[in-house]
Amino acid sequence: MERVALLRCESYEVDQIEHSLRRGFDLLGGDLFLRQLIPYGAKVLLKPNLLSVETPGSPVVTDYRTFEAVIRILKDYAGSLSFGDSPGFGKAEKAAKSAGLMEVAQRYGVAFDPFETWQTVLVPEHFLVSSFDVATAALDADVLISLPRLKTHGMTSYTGAIKNQFGCIPGLKKANWHSRMPKAKDFSDMLLDINRVVDTKFAILDGIVAMEGNGPKNGSPRKMNTLIMGESLSAVDALAATLIGYDPLEIPYLKQAYKRKVGPVLLDDFEIMGESVDSMKPDHFVRIRGKNHMSFQDGGRWNKWLRDIIAPKPILVPHDCISCRRCAEICPESPNVISFYKDGERWLPAWQYDSCIRCFCCQEICPAGAIKIEYPPLAKWLKMDQ
Ligand code: SF4
Ligand code: SF4
Repeated sequence: MERVALLRCESYEVDQIEHSLRRGFDLLGGDLFLRQLIPYGAKVLLKPNLLSVETPGSPVVTDYRTFEAVIRILKDYAGSLSFGDSPGFGKAEKAAKSAGLMEVAQRYGVAFDPFETWQTVLVPEHFLVSSFDVATAALDADVLISLPRLKTHGMTSYTGAIKNQFGCIPGLKKANWHSRMPKAKDFSDMLLDINRVVDTKFAILDGIVAMEGNGPKNGSPRKMNTLIMGESLSAVDALAATLIGYDPLEIPYLKQAYKRKVGPVLLDDFEIMGESVDSMKPDHFVRIRGKNHMSFQDGGRWNKWLRDIIAPKPILVPHDCISCRRCAEICPESPNVISFYKDGERWLPAWQYDSCIRCFCCQEICPAGAIKIEYPPLAKWLKMDQ
């Protein structure tokens, strides 16, 4: 049976994180476990979540102190250590520097790869997608270790270990997948297919401070004092989703993982070491507002009518907009959906909702938190936003 360690860690003091992580490895089998996870001389790649360019300590990205604690432990086992990611927007190097990970890496001699070279790989026995362009570094690593952050997510409700591997698809190629997979079910199968070619051996999920509310970029920090680690990404995610108040099967990609028998998803199907689930559940965690797991892209009069009366949509908060135009640049349906109009001295975005597939990439990437998700009155009345 797969095992997952659930750990309490009450601060971002590096010594304390290291202590908690070492306890987690001890629970999973100690030195022998680590030696089996990382064979002698192995090239180890750490895959943090660097969604965008953020300041040190931001809950949007993997915390640099958690990153340091992981390095302190793994450097004694790895033949070589490197890290890399590809943000949804902006340069990976800038994101790594800005969030403080680059400084830590340089101090420990950990190399950086910006995921700018890639290879097209076929997915054997795929669920939906037969090939991907994947960062070469992720394919070349002997051992890939995922370092996700525990966050809410507009499309998938929760994001953690399984979705973190989406960052192995370089740069704006990610947005194309949103466009091609507007249905949460298809998007989820696509994520499972990525995880078939990106062979992640272990995940350490950072929920010391998680993100609640309007995630994965514009939510609020929420102290949870939690670290979760394990070899099974589905188990790590199922446990995290449970802690923040979801049934794992409510998370689209966990539901697909369950249906497709890709790792354990139900809590009875894996063993939880360390803390008890009940003792680690935060009070009143603010989940993502509503379930945005619907697609209205297929066209047809009835589908459009349904979309207009129940589908959530991105809405501008004009006061917060800094006119950076990133929303239009990231939109996979661009240039047709978001255009700009002059409002006094500023240019503000406006949405052509007929063409919008509700992927919420624009909301995810907005650096100012100026895009919110809003439900039509009927959807609110039907309590679809809860
Ligand atoms: S406007 Fe936003 S939600 Fe709509 S398709 Fe573009 S990025 Fe996705
Ligand atoms: S809505 Fe956000 S992403 Fe779009 S222009 Fe305004 S600040 Fe930039």
